[in-house]
Amino acid sequence: MTLMDSFGRVATDLRVSLTDKCNLRCTYCMPPEGLDWLPSAQLLTADEIVRLVTIGVERLGITEVRYTGGEPLLRRELVDIVARTAALTPRPQVSLTTNGIGLARLAGALAEAGLDRVNVSLDTLDPETFKRLAHRDRFTDVMDGLAAAATAGLTPVKVNAVLMRGINDHEAPALLRHCVERGYELRFIEQMPLDAQHGWSRDNMITADEILALLAPEFDLTPDDLEERGSAPAERFLVDGGPARVGVIGSVTRPFCGACDRVRLTADGQVRNCLFATEESDLKTAMRAGATDDDLAARWLAAVARKRPGHGIDDPAFLQPARPMSAIGG
Ligand code: SAM
Repeated sequence: MTLMDSFGRVATDLRVSLTDKCNLRCTYCMPPEGLDWLPSAQLLTADEIVRLVTIGVERLGITEVRYTGGEPLLRRELVDIVARTAALTPRPQVSLTTNGIGLARLAGALAEAGLDRVNVSLDTLDPETFKRLAHRDRFTDVMDGLAAAATAGLTPVKVNAVLMRGINDHEAPALLRHCVERGYELRFIEQMPLDAQHGWSRDNMITADEILALLAPEFDLTPDDLEERGSAPAERFLVDGGPARVGVIGSVTRPFCGACDRVRLTADGQVRNCLFATEESDLKTAMRAGATDDDLAARWLAAVARKRPGHGIDDPAFLQPARPMSAIGG
C-alpha cells in the first residue's frame, strides 16, 4: 500500500517531530520568550514513535525518515530512535534537521546509529547577528556542530538559511562562499507564514528572485538538471560551473505542491498531510486506546488521501495554521 492522495501524489518522505521544544528563538519561528511547550504526557514515547515509523516504512511505502522538531537533539532518546529506524526493512534513508547545538558531541554516535545525513540551520556568519536573530548566544556551538557532522560523515551536509530583510539578507553571498569552501550544500528557504507570533508579511519576505539577485554579482549560477529535481523542494543551481550547488526553496513564490511527496507526524502523534494543513489525524489517541497496526495504517492512509492540491498561501482566504513551525516539525 502507498500513501496516495486524490491527486495521485504519493507520500514517501516522512518528517517526524521529536519535540516542540527548542533552545533557540529564531524570530521567524518563535517569540523571544518561547512558547507553552506540550505537556510531556502528550508527547509520543520513543516506542510509540518507532511503532508509527515502522508502520510507515513497512506497510505504507515510506522510504525516507527525517527527524526534526522543535530541536530534535533535545530529545534524549534520539540516538536510540535513529538506530531503531535504520534497522527497519526495507531500510529507509534517515536524516535529521537540527540547529546544530549539541551536534559536536552527538554526531559520531548518530552516524554509528545509522543516521545518513543532516541539515543544519545557519542564517548568519556573524555572532552578533546570530544573537539578534535567534535570541541566544550559541553561534560557536552551531559552527562546531556543522564541522563535527562533516567529520562524522553525515554527508552531504546541507545548510538551511532563511534571509530576513535588513537583518541577514546582505550575507547571502558570504553564506554561500562559506558553504562552498567547506563542501556543504546551502539552501535558502523563503520565509513562510508559520511563526507563532504571526509576524510574517509578504512584503517583507525575501523572495526566491531576490535571493538569486543577491547572489548574481558574485556567482555564476546555472540551473541544475531540472529532471533531477523530482519532488525535491529546492531549485538547484550549479555554482560557478559546479560541482558545488546551491538550492533555493521558494515555498511561497515558487510552490512545488504538485510534486510534494511529504507527510508529517507531530511530536504529539498527529499526522499532517501538509505544513499548512488546518486538519490533523490523531494517531496518538487511537494508539493509546488500543488501535492495531492495521487501524493505524488505515487512519494514516485516509489522512493523506484528503491532502489538498496546494498550500494556498496565495489564496486571499489563506489561513495560517494554528500550530507554528516549531510545533509541526519543519
Ligand atoms: N530546530 C531545527 C532547526 O533549526 O533546523 C529543526 C526545526 S526548524 C523548524 C526546521 C527548519 O525550519 C529550519 O531550517 C528553520 O530555519 C526553518 N524555519 C522555521 N520557521 C520558518 C519559517 N517561518 N519560514 C521558513 N523556514 C522556517
